[in-house]
Amino acid sequence: MKILVAAKRVVDYNVKVRVRSDHSGVETANVKMSMNPFDEIAVEEAIRFKEAGHGDEVVVASIGPRQCEEVLRTALAMGADRGVLVRSDAALEPLAVARLLGVLAEREKSDLILLGKQAIDDDANQTGQMLAALLGWAQGTFACRLEAVQDGLRVTREIDGGLETLFMPLPAVVTADLRLNEPRYPKLPNIMKAKKKPLETLDGDSLGVDISPRLHTLRVSAPEPRKGGVRVTDVAELVDRLRNEAKVL
Ligand code: AMP
Repeated sequence: MKILVAAKRVVDYNVKVRVRSDHSGVETANVKMSMNPFDEIAVEEAIRFKEAGHGDEVVVASIGPRQCEEVLRTALAMGADRGVLVRSDAALEPLAVARLLGVLAEREKSDLILLGKQAIDDDANQTGQMLAALLGWAQGTFACRLEAVQDGLRVTREIDGGLETLFMPLPAVVTADLRLNEPRYPKLPNIMKAKKKPLETLDGDSLGVDISPRLHTLRVSAPEPRKGGVRVTDVAELVDRLRNEAKVL
């Protein structure tokens, strides 16, 4: 089984994001960037699949500027075999990413594509679903358990009412939820070894894919700062304030 994993470079989850002064987006200059946390989980799952004897090769792809190489090197240090950087300086929407990943999957003859359930920068939660639809493959989104079974996969998904278990034949697209696994930290010797692992660079414009934007961002603004709470002395005061100040009763 050939596994392709998609890993996005995003603002590190520990960074408190700031909106640009012109309200065109979030400030990314001089900000720590890392692999999207859900993608780390997807990479970990692919490596565990291979370690359990279900996968032959784990290829990790990242789409974006040259600096996405850092994300790929992290995935290689975790244990992926090969990296592919699809270079593009354009602002890519989920449909464009799905189209590019679709071309890569066909080129790599992938049997399974693992993605994060969402990227923590735009919170779109669309790419995996679009990719499966474009390829006409089975999809298991928000996976919290993944098992290789006869002729396919058993995917346990987190849904509002609990857990749903699906069987799907390969090829398939699976998106990773938080509880799928706990990603490993790359060890120093593996970080050194990862520097020698193959990393191919493709020009995003040369893959024959329409990546033109379909959305126009009007304005990005930070949420209103929360007002401080009020401590009430008893239930009667609470009810009074809800009725006469907040006017919600
Ligand atoms: P989204 O639909 O934007 O929330 O992203 C869902 C998942 O798609 C992410 O967790 C990644 O696995 C993948 N993805 C999105 N954008 C990229 C990108 N530029 N490069 C690689 N993978 C991506």
